[in-house]
Amino acid sequence: MLISQDSNGSFRKLNFNISSISTHDVYHFLNRDENELMIYMTGIKKEENIFLQRIIPIKAARRSMGGFCPDPTDSLQKLLWLDSLGHALHATWHIHPGLGPFATMPSERDKKSQECLERGRYETIMVILSRDGFVRFLSIKISFSIHLFGTGIEVVDEDSNIFKISKT
Ligand SMILES: [Zn+2]
Repeated sequence: MLISQDSNGSFRKLNFNISSISTHDVYHFLNRDENELMIYMTGIKKEENIFLQRIIPIKAARRSMGGFCPDPTDSLQKLLWLDSLGHALHATWHIHPGLGPFATMPSERDKKSQECLERGRYETIMVILSRDGFVRFLSIKISFSIHLFGTGIEVVDEDSNIFKISKT
């Protein structure tokens, strides 16, 4: 799926929408043990609005407290499966060890993998969680805004797209 471009060829801003319940679901899914874990997420896209909805678990080639390496065959199959159903990858989520907003900072490897997806023209953002429920939404070049539906999640830093799950 191509990144939305306007007639001047510049990127359109994408509006990502997600409910607090879905955010809680992802947090609990990823926080199941001490090792890093990653998921894909898809949903409904209408023009520049993307509604993140469905968790897609992906298999690990390796995982530890310090990292998650996706199984490339499984990841590719999941992307092809999405495409076959007219859907696309719209977010990758993973959890970092550590607490507080700083624990959600992307590593150099995280930035490279997001950059790679954007270069592949996926309309997707990266979401990184801390163990105590801080959530950071980020991209490299894609311009986006986050719209949360429901309660139980608070804004920490609007400019940096950092939130905190207040009820788990
Ligand atoms: Zn990471």
